[in-house]
Amino acid sequence: MAADDKPTPARKPKPVVTSLGNHPLSPETLMMGYGYDPMLSEGSLKAPIFLTSTFAFPSAADGKRFFEGITGKRPGGTDGLVYSRFNGPNQQILEGRLAVWDGAEEALCFSSGMTAICVLFLALCSAGDVIVHSGPLYAASEGFVARTLSRFGVSYVDFPAGADRAELDAVLARAKAQAASQGGKVAMIYLESPANPTNALVDVEAVRDARDAALGTDCPIAIDNTFLGPLWSRPLDHGADVVVYSLTKYVGGHSDLVAGSVAGAKKWMTPVRMLRNTMGGIADPHTAWMLLRSLETVELRMSRAGENAARVCAWLAAHPKVEGLGYLGMIADPHQQDIFDRHCIGAGSTFSLFIKGGEAESFRFLDALKIAKLAVSLGGTETLASHPASMTHLSVPDERKAALGITDNLVRISIGIESADDLIADFEQALAKV
Ligand SMILES: *Cc1c(COP(=O)(O)O)cnc(C)c1O
Repeated sequence: MAADDKPTPARKPKPVVTSLGNHPLSPETLMMGYGYDPMLSEGSLKAPIFLTSTFAFPSAADGKRFFEGITGKRPGGTDGLVYSRFNGPNQQILEGRLAVWDGAEEALCFSSGMTAICVLFLALCSAGDVIVHSGPLYAASEGFVARTLSRFGVSYVDFPAGADRAELDAVLARAKAQAASQGGKVAMIYLESPANPTNALVDVEAVRDARDAALGTDCPIAIDNTFLGPLWSRPLDHGADVVVYSLTKYVGGHSDLVAGSVAGAKKWMTPVRMLRNTMGGIADPHTAWMLLRSLETVELRMSRAGENAARVCAWLAAHPKVEGLGYLGMIADPHQQDIFDRHCIGAGSTFSLFIKGGEAESFRFLDALKIAKLAVSLGGTETLASHPASMTHLSVPDERKAALGITDNLVRISIGIESADDLIADFEQALAKV
């Protein structure tokens, strides 16, 4: 502002609208404006990207109060912006909108899904503690628990994703005994559902009941909801306390960023936020802005991808060169179907395709695809296909591969938002080459 300009009148933020009378607004609607007032940013309809490392305080007393929030001297977090390792406007708007989707009290964003997961574990586990986790997990999550946390005296007990209540009771009893022998506690139950690439679902409601009976509510249940969230699964409604995402996948949705998040009640988020303040690892302002763009269409993109996957899988299931499908829309096991019916709103768009044959047939199929791209990852606008046994799970020992059903004829597919007819035509011509 030039020196002779009149000062801009103080702008009052508009109240946040989350309902019209008794009519609560849906997340799809809230994604266009929740937590951002254009009048605070020169009328800019979209939030500017706030590229700054530090924030000016209105007064010294305000600076002191903000720091009391950052350091935890004042409970409930800070009510002002301080320094960009702690937070920023783009990240705060993003965190507000992420919390809306999962019905969480608070969300925290991170520079990657793995940063979110590692900071969550480090914030809630101490030496002597035991982590109980479903298996298989995303390989880096499993590795962090087994190889990194073990160096700091944290051990683990795992159970297969599809476990029933009796198996869960047994595993929690084992974990409790292990914790007692190490002088610690069962610090966290960590789930991933559906498991990759088996697509086995975890019964979150049964885990909650088993946890309540064995440990009470002081041991949080965290779940990686990357494959089905936020649209097709709402784990906080089924007894989970903390929900974790790789935002790189469906939420980012355009295969053009890497980010993660953790959301849940303040009680669990406060220690995670404190450790993030210390370590860093918050998503940068540009990535947070990109995610705000992505959240405006997440419902549209996921709905379309889900519809496409249903059509593609119906077609694939009837093809003579297809041995089978690991798709949540076609579950064979009644126990898994019961978990699906109680927990899931949709079958997703990531599935396993078993081709008749082995590695050679799978490679021929992958190399022949013309629309689907040969790449790992999932949840983008474009369809991707990969071969877990020789790519994402190459380092998994053969015995464990066999136990997990990671066979040489398994092709992993993430369906995007292209025309379903075009995708079917692509799979048809690629299967013809097998
Ligand atoms: C990709 C992924 C992660 C890791 O996320 P990054 O953003 O790559 O760090 C964790 N869990 C699941 C289920 C994933 O698919």
